[in-house]
Amino acid sequence: MILQSHIDALSEMLGPKATTSDQDVIGPHLEEWRSKYFGKTQLMLMPASTEELSKAVTYCNEHNIAIVPQGGNTGLVGGSLPGLGDRSEILVSTKRLNKSIEVDVQDYSITADAGCTITALQEAAAEQNLLFPLSLSSEGSCTVGGVVSTNAGGVHVIRYGTTRALTSGVKAVLPNGDIYDGTSSLRKDNTGYALDQLFIGAEGSLGIVTKATFRLFPAEKQKHTFWLGVNSPSNALKLLYEARQVTSDRISVFEFMPHIGLQFVLKHITGTVSPLAGEYPWYVLMEVATSTDDQQLQENLDSWLSSTLERGLIVDGASAQSKKQANEFWKLRESMSEAQKHEGGSIKHDISVPVSSVPAFLEEATNVVLEKYKGCRPTPFGHLGDGNIHFNIMQPVGSDKNDFLRNWDEMNNFVHDIVIKYGGSISAEHGIGSMKKGELARTKPQSSLKAMKSIKRALDPKNIMNPGVLFD
Ligand code: FAD
Repeated sequence: MILQSHIDALSEMLGPKATTSDQDVIGPHLEEWRSKYFGKTQLMLMPASTEELSKAVTYCNEHNIAIVPQGGNTGLVGGSLPGLGDRSEILVSTKRLNKSIEVDVQDYSITADAGCTITALQEAAAEQNLLFPLSLSSEGSCTVGGVVSTNAGGVHVIRYGTTRALTSGVKAVLPNGDIYDGTSSLRKDNTGYALDQLFIGAEGSLGIVTKATFRLFPAEKQKHTFWLGVNSPSNALKLLYEARQVTSDRISVFEFMPHIGLQFVLKHITGTVSPLAGEYPWYVLMEVATSTDDQQLQENLDSWLSSTLERGLIVDGASAQSKKQANEFWKLRESMSEAQKHEGGSIKHDISVPVSSVPAFLEEATNVVLEKYKGCRPTPFGHLGDGNIHFNIMQPVGSDKNDFLRNWDEMNNFVHDIVIKYGGSISAEHGIGSMKKGELARTKPQSSLKAMKSIKRALDPKNIMNPGVLFD
């Protein structure tokens, strides 16, 4: 329980617009997107400035009150909800920290408040003929603070990198209430520890991000979008290798889906149609993009794709002839998660391995789960271009959903052991949250865990900042 005197003090400090204990207002902030986690709290703060937030955090630190920061609440690992453990926590929503987005055209950079959505940044950049390349299905809701704190990935990582690669500076309120400001368009700065980097992927455990500066790129003017049928993951990788050479490394999307995943989409998502007449074991969604019209690129692509067909690297393919058709290809990929929901329970893994190890990982992990869970339906898909596979396992047809989901932890163990064997990561882009704490403790080298805990203790000795994530 948080003492009423603390609730009164914080409410008086920030005023009625920035504080609420009304459960009808707080309610929508307490359910996770997949309805897997439900939180609870007596108080939600909604500061409108870094300074306001700093005052509140200073008070919480003095009185040992735990805080959970929340942006768009689209995180998938139970990291953005207060009260999941034994400790009472207040919620800090960044929804009123969303006033400022500034594009610096000359420096190819954009600086925005933590509560701005990723779509808002993409649009602000596009107005200046520039590209903010972070792109994920949740972009209409997820926020600057959220993507920084989870080091979000998405579909453009192959070309532009993760949020870490895109971020050039962060402003944050530290657990003791101090304000750290590293927002800047500077490209080079070798003056000691890269403090901004600490907040990227920290899941709100080291402070609350209130602003960030990101890199921009020239807008993608010419785009070629392909839907390609392939016989195997290793052929898909050979295709990727060649595609990077032929296009002078202008592949901006290289996504990968199994036939069973496409079948689920065609069955459950209205208005979807397969672009190819035949059925193939795997499909690749590939996009090549340039900032200028490049006729030579078009010709190179045409002749290269004909040769990949002759050599059997692809078995069929379609090139989008219009923006509408490209959107139709994208809908097949973007509906992959939604369609699986209609097929019942799904045990999920968000893993990565070195790109070259994806075929071997897929073969081994698929064999292991099929042997241990008879009739289950592996449906791995995702960002093949950066080695990040959402290795989802659907329940057997006709089985009981809850019975199947009871295997979650055990199956995670089997799959993650294979991931570690291939030098991979048990969380490629969604983070650890409260969901994967056990697996992090089991799989991360002790020396790394020790260093991470030392940093946490140094910045947050009272453990008030999102104490339920990463480790206990
Ligand atoms: P929240 O969910 O609110 O919070 C996530 C974490 O960040 C929590 O630990 C929270 O405490 C912390 N946090 C939030 N704001 C702050 C802040 N200002 N300061 C400090 N800590 C903060 N992720 C990908 O990487 N790639 C994908 O392709 C992808 N696709 C998705 C598709 C769908 C349909 C959905 C629902 C999610 C997807 N995600 C994906 C996951 C999610 O969108 C990302 O993790 C996103 O970065 C979360 O942003 P958010 O603003 O919603 O953060």
